[in-house]
Amino acid sequence: MNLFDFLFPPVCPHCGTHVQQQGDWCDACIEEVLHVRQVPPKLLSSLDSAWILADYRGGIKSMIYDVKFNEKKEQSKGAAPFLASYNLRMHEYKPHYVIPIPSSAEKKKVRGYNQVDLFFYHWVVSFSKYDYDDCTIEDKAEKDLNDCLDKKSGYYKWFDCLYKMDTHKEMWALSNTERHSTIDTAFMWNESYDSTLIRDKRILLVDDIYTTGATLESVARILRKYNPKYIEALTLASGSF
Ligand SMILES: [Zn+2]
Repeated sequence: MNLFDFLFPPVCPHCGTHVQQQGDWCDACIEEVLHVRQVPPKLLSSLDSAWILADYRGGIKSMIYDVKFNEKKEQSKGAAPFLASYNLRMHEYKPHYVIPIPSSAEKKKVRGYNQVDLFFYHWVVSFSKYDYDDCTIEDKAEKDLNDCLDKKSGYYKWFDCLYKMDTHKEMWALSNTERHSTIDTAFMWNESYDSTLIRDKRILLVDDIYTTGATLESVARILRKYNPKYIEALTLASGSF
C-alpha cells in the first residue's frame, strides 16, 4: 500500500465503500446505472449510430455534475469503468478519429478545461498506445501529440477539430425549433485543421450526456460536409429514454 492510499483509502465515489484502487467504483453502484444501449436508428439523421453507457442518475449523475460545475477534475476518473464496457466495440469499430464535443472558449476559460476531454482523452490514448509509445517525449507535450499520432498509420487519433462559438442566448429559454437553429450555428470546423483528413474515415464523436441528440446531430451535420465514411457517437449517460 502506498502512502497516498493509506492516507486516502480508495473508496467508491458514490457510496464510500472500500474499493481496490483510486478511481474504482463498487460493483453495486456501477450495476445500478450501467445500461449500455444504442439510440434507436429512427431517431438519428446525420449520425450513423449512437451509444449510451449509463442511465443519467445515481453516481454517474453526481460525478458528471461535480466535474462540470464543482471543479472536481479528479472525479472524471470515475468514467473509466463505464468506458470499459465500450472497449470491445472500440476494437471492432476502430475509429480513425475521436472528436470531442467542444465547450465554448468562454466556458473553458472559466472552468479551465473541457469536461469531455477529461472523461475520454486518456481512455482514447490508451488505444493508440503503440503509436503513442513511438512518439518522443517532446511530442508528448500535449500540443505536439496529435501531430505525432497523425503521422502514424494507426487509429484512435484524438482530434480536437471543432470550435464552439460563445452564445449568449440562454439555451433552456428557447423553444425546440429555436434551440435546434441556435445549436446549428454554435459549432464550426476549426480552420486551423485540414478538413480533408476525415474524408472516408470512421469518426467517433464523444460527449458526456445525450439529451435530445441535437448537439451531436448538429456536429455530425457539419462533419458530413467533409465526407467521412461513418459517424458514431458515444456518450456516458442519458436520462431521455
Ligand atoms: Zn458504491
